[in-house]
Amino acid sequence: MYNFSDEAANVMDILLATRNRHKVLEIAALLSPGLRVLSLAERPEVPEVEEDAPTLEGNARKKAAAVSAATGLWCLADDTGLEVEALGGAPGVLSARYAGAGCDYAANNRKLLEALRGVSPERRRAVFRTVMALSDPRGERVVLEEGRLAGVIADEPAGTNGFGYDPLFLIPSRGRTLAQLSLEEKNGLSHRSAALGRMLPHLKRLALGERRC
Ligand code: IMP
Repeated sequence: MYNFSDEAANVMDILLATRNRHKVLEIAALLSPGLRVLSLAERPEVPEVEEDAPTLEGNARKKAAAVSAATGLWCLADDTGLEVEALGGAPGVLSARYAGAGCDYAANNRKLLEALRGVSPERRRAVFRTVMALSDPRGERVVLEEGRLAGVIADEPAGTNGFGYDPLFLIPSRGRTLAQLSLEEKNGLSHRSAALGRMLPHLKRLALGERRC
């Protein structure tokens, strides 16, 4: 965790461009005093941003820029995809709606297990890829960073922590799925924390008062 309060001239606000409380918990746990972490959960008036870009990069950039332009705040957005080797990188950018528009996490997980029925462990290798975008308050300048986590899609769900595909995402070195790890353990190795780690120098510059990204 990076302690911005050691160096920041004053506390600055950073708005997470998400209403996903799991993402907010994961990201807020990695950012500490010196940055006041807000989320769209506290800004119901900000309209939903349609994630219709063909890439994670495009969606992350679009979300961060649109929410900054709507609020006048520095915004951090992430877009994450699960890329499964045997599926040629699917569901990828379509991870949220793999089982159809408006589907829930359980339906996505069922569809993934069905798609991988009979597929050998070697071909069940997968990567979580997070692209994180930081936008200036006008939504004009955006910096992107990426984080990855390698794993294997399990034969059945295990664990109740986390969200999304976590119950199916096995970390071979731990012998557990992401949903069997605590928040701290997931943050110690996750795609999202890796992307945030790369974003920290940009955030640090902001906290120090250099208002560029
Ligand atoms: P989003 O568009 O970044 O919200 O992510 C797309 C989908 O990927 C989500 O609906 C989740 O199903 C899944 N997802 C994103 N991040 C994670 C994660 O950290 N663990 C498990 N699933 C995730």
